[in-house]
Amino acid sequence: MAETADYLIVGGGIIGLNLALVAKTRNPESSVVLIEKEPSCGFHASGRNSGVLHAGFYYTADSLKARFTRDGCKRLTDYCLQRGLQINQNGKLVVARNEGELKDLDELFLRGKKNGVQLEEISARDARQIEPRARTYERALYSPSTAAVDPSEVVRSFLSDAIELGVQVRTDTEYIGRNGSDIRTSRGSFSAGYVINAAGVYADAIARDFGFAKDYRILPFKGLYLYQDADAPPVRTAIYPVPNLEQPFLGVHLTVTVGGRVKLGPTATPAFWKEHYRGMANFRLAEMSEVVSREALFFLRDDFSFRRLAIRELQKYSRSHMVRTAGELAEGLKLEHFSQWGRPGIRAQLVNITKNKLVMDFCYEADKNSFHVLNSVSPAFTCALPFTEHIFDQIEISAG
Ligand SMILES: Cc1cc2nc3c(=O)[nH]c(=O)nc-3n(C[C@H](O)[C@H](O)[C@H](O)COP(=O)(O)OP(=O)(O)OC[C@H]3O[C@@H](n4cnc5c(N)ncnc54)[C@H](O)[C@@H]3O)c2cc1C
Repeated sequence: MAETADYLIVGGGIIGLNLALVAKTRNPESSVVLIEKEPSCGFHASGRNSGVLHAGFYYTADSLKARFTRDGCKRLTDYCLQRGLQINQNGKLVVARNEGELKDLDELFLRGKKNGVQLEEISARDARQIEPRARTYERALYSPSTAAVDPSEVVRSFLSDAIELGVQVRTDTEYIGRNGSDIRTSRGSFSAGYVINAAGVYADAIARDFGFAKDYRILPFKGLYLYQDADAPPVRTAIYPVPNLEQPFLGVHLTVTVGGRVKLGPTATPAFWKEHYRGMANFRLAEMSEVVSREALFFLRDDFSFRRLAIRELQKYSRSHMVRTAGELAEGLKLEHFSQWGRPGIRAQLVNITKNKLVMDFCYEADKNSFHVLNSVSPAFTCALPFTEHIFDQIEISAG
């Protein structure tokens, strides 16, 4: 016998959990069930990211990311403070490595102004007063509202909010397939009124079961982290490079965890299957064939400068290369202080396979029966509160 759910949410990351919270808050009488294939929520990107609450100056004003990052940062900061969750409100510097990067630094400043983000353009001298180890060419940007949290702690807090509100959270329960509104899982079937797919790196595959995501595939990009030893000289403020504005990755940076540890990363290394964290873990042959053949094609044709990206990122498997790269942003980083790799994360990056382009903004598709969050990339963690409210507005329109 199938169980029933008015709203069935697939995926217990920060997006699925907040969608469940919005669904139950707006429809207290409805049954809201969230299924998560892993033993706990936040097992993938939501628990394996940098934990940075971004301020919102990277994104062009017409994007969904610009709309939600500034407010998301403020709301998640307030949430952490109210709940007593750990938060490091240490701000962030964006530094230029050479004269050529000043143009894009100025572009970020303009984007910040258009997006209503508090951002200061400062001299190299002022940058060193904020963070004595910062290296920059002529000037830098300072974002006082950027903060760092413990992402797993935040996920756990949203999970307990959801359970308290009456959301039924079923872990170890994997979406397998569907027959109409009948959803098959590894633990029985659900007759679902409305299905919301927030399955991260698997969202494209699930969307295809519903006739969506025809133009898209999700490519996994691995983010490696390297930790500085606890007794090495500290860094106070996060330091980021000027990113390549044509790509959605921010480049290797230095962040300071809520526990005060300095970490370098993440890389954006093309992975060979979707949950390819280490060694042969979570290996799936069919998945690898698809991912690797697509990556090989992008590499040969050099679509979206994939060749340069892949070569550059693969070099960062070397500890000395990582430390050297980060050393362009901060003085006095020593290889012998960086002995510990952290838990890697996988970015679920959407690619438009008809245009052969990385999708830069959040992206979703929906109809009256289902909604599919297709490109839940960074900074979706920061944006989770306003983004999921927006998604639910769209669901109310689609479902009629
Ligand atoms: C290395 C890295 C660094 C990042 N840094 C930042 C940052 O500093 N700040 C920021 O704002 N964002 C950052 N991000 C982005 C952020 O982590 C993601 O945008 C966000 O976590 C996406 O959340 P999600 O809920 O959509 O996906 P996920 O957290 O991946 O959740 C999807 C869930 O769906 C489940 N699932 C998948 N398939 C099924 C199935 N068949 N059945 C049931 N469940 C299923 C998975 O197990 C998973 O738990 C970073 C990401 C990475 C990888």
